[in-house]
Amino acid sequence: REVTADQVHLALEHDINPFTNQPHTAQYKKILESRKTLPVFAHMAEFYKIFNKHQIIIMVGETGSGKTTQIPQFVAYSDLPHTKHKIVACTQTRRVATTAVAERVADEMDVQLGQQVGYSIRFEDMTEPGTTFLKYMTDGILLREAMHDPDLSRYSTIIVDDAHERTLATDILMGVLKTLARRRPDLKLIIMSATLDALKFQKYFAVSSDALPPLFKVPGRTHPVEVSYTEEPVSDYVKAAIRLVLKIHRKEKPGDILVFLTGEEEIEDACHSIKREVKTLIDHYPGTVGPLECIPLYSWLPPQQQQRIFDPPPTAGSPGGPPGRKVVVSTNIAESSLTIDGIVYVVDPGFSKQKVYNPSTRVESLLVSLISKESAQQRAGRAGRTRPGKCFRLYTENDMSELEEQTEPEILRSNLVSTVLMLVKAGIKDLDKFDYLDEPAPESLSRALEVLNYLAAVDDDGNLTALGSIMAEFPLDPQLSKMLIISPEFKCSNEILTITSMLSVPNVWLRPSNKREEADAAKAMLTVPGGDHLMLLNVYNEYIRNQHDKDWTYNHYLSAPALLQAVSVREQLERTMGRFEVDIVSVQDQIGMSLAIKQALCCGFFMQVAHKVGGKRNYMTVNNQPVVLHPSCRLDTQPEWVIFNEFVVTNRPYIRTVTGGQPGWLLEYARLYFDLKDWPDSETKRALVRVATKMTGRFGARFDKVARIGESGE
Ligand code: ADP
Ligand code: MG
Repeated sequence: REVTADQVHLALEHDINPFTNQPHTAQYKKILESRKTLPVFAHMAEFYKIFNKHQIIIMVGETGSGKTTQIPQFVAYSDLPHTKHKIVACTQTRRVATTAVAERVADEMDVQLGQQVGYSIRFEDMTEPGTTFLKYMTDGILLREAMHDPDLSRYSTIIVDDAHERTLATDILMGVLKTLARRRPDLKLIIMSATLDALKFQKYFAVSSDALPPLFKVPGRTHPVEVSYTEEPVSDYVKAAIRLVLKIHRKEKPGDILVFLTGEEEIEDACHSIKREVKTLIDHYPGTVGPLECIPLYSWLPPQQQQRIFDPPPTAGSPGGPPGRKVVVSTNIAESSLTIDGIVYVVDPGFSKQKVYNPSTRVESLLVSLISKESAQQRAGRAGRTRPGKCFRLYTENDMSELEEQTEPEILRSNLVSTVLMLVKAGIKDLDKFDYLDEPAPESLSRALEVLNYLAAVDDDGNLTALGSIMAEFPLDPQLSKMLIISPEFKCSNEILTITSMLSVPNVWLRPSNKREEADAAKAMLTVPGGDHLMLLNVYNEYIRNQHDKDWTYNHYLSAPALLQAVSVREQLERTMGRFEVDIVSVQDQIGMSLAIKQALCCGFFMQVAHKVGGKRNYMTVNNQPVVLHPSCRLDTQPEWVIFNEFVVTNRPYIRTVTGGQPGWLLEYARLYFDLKDWPDSETKRALVRVATKMTGRFGARFDKVARIGESGE
């Protein structure tokens, strides 16, 4: 039985909601009217014609045309997943987009979020088994599900959204789905993207060269956008963006503003400055400047704050006075994942934070990088959604001409360790034969296998070990899961569990730009000797101890949502540990505990080690990369050897979240990695060789395998 657009229109207008058998609410009817104005809605008939006939569809439509919110609903009316215990999945590339869109679609369908319509992101599952039939989820979560159920048998249709973003997980997922579609003829696939590079996806999913999957293309309906450039390059793009926002607010006609910045801290600081300066303006020129609402948008924003971006702009301060305006200061999320109606002005400094991976040092980091031409066009397009708009590029026309055409797919610039572990666990052994949309460099794959081998997750032949099999079950980076699983050997798994949870949530430290000193003083109160990991443990324990005191987090400049999330992450990880019989144990005495924690850290993070060179706070990583302790680092002494959680580059390379370690532990617990005879000569090598020579005397020539860790603790 095939559904037609006419039938769906009737159902939509019907008084009774077919999915709940409840009468439709007034809100439903109001939203339905606005849905009808979306380009995708107008093409419903064409959609069903194609969807009814084909297993795989490639869909293209301008950002804001209604792909993400409408297509999954169209599919639900056709698949009727609730009648056959199936689910329609729609993947998203970002957490915030996943939750925001699910919330919107639940409203559109007149159901409660988490019931018929739900979402699933890492560490947060808002679905009801047996009830949820439309599920928005991050690409990474669906990939994880494929690891357990290679047939993804729960799903009737899988929609891969924002495929043009080419995230690592989306790319791998497309490879998995391509093969799965052959095995499961009843499974339907829709690949949606915002750019016109659809032919690439069509060719990729073609059964043969003359049988491309159909293209469902919804023409955009955008208004002209006037683009301007700066005459000269700007030296401080944040300052320039703030100045421009104020100028637009004073001089330009009504309409909201969207500013693209690169990260949480930059965004929060900019919002703070904008608010302050607008207040000054209003005080100085009363009656001539309207109210301005400044709203941040970045990936770890607490959910209750996310929906604020969709609020209408503030009304004029006085009747007939200058109009109010909304400014959204956002990361790349607003480029194509989320559409904010009412934007007329776009401020584009030309940067975004991008993953960069250096395979030779095995270091992956987020770097503020130039955007591509395609990104710049997408950003400008945001200004012409509802009426003609303006885009102010904070770079010269010549700079624009030198940008790359497209952003490089993430698979070509990522650390593949996590992904490879997942693929090996899913039984895909021939990694170089996997059908990639863009093939990663063979050395990236072999590097990843090598790292997994160092971590003892795969053996020398690339087969999954028992340890690796459990590691893959944790939604964590392999270093973290290794550390967690091994920690009972050191009798500190209770503490390592807490530290791992704290490392898996957004930064807990708040440092408002007008309260830096107070925040730093509060942090000093929570500092413990030994290092940042131990401090995270202390913060968590203090938080739990003080949970009765509602002001505790506020008084200590700590993020309450982040800590709350750490509690939830901890519970989830604890459950996974329980399933795989990883014991939760604690060392009783304080000194023993700190030693044990450092040893467990070495078991996971032995590749993220640096030793002290020369002056204050200067270190050298084992790959001979000079680094400095990050200003946030509270290490009281400066130990010879440290383990770090993160490598960050701002104005120079830093290491962040750092704890002291002992080289002897490294040599002992990561024997394979520290096989020094293969290392090129360096200062680090010589230092390690000295340690190794001393150790040979104490332990004998061989340091034995993972199972024996802990027996010889120092
Ligand atoms: P696309 O996926 O093609 O970019 P969407 O389906 O995301 O388009 O957006 C369609 C419309 O729905 C847009 O006008 C957008 O503003 C609106 N919309 C999406 N999410 C929300 C939300 N959470 N609240 C209000 N409106 C929303
Ligand atoms: Mg979308």
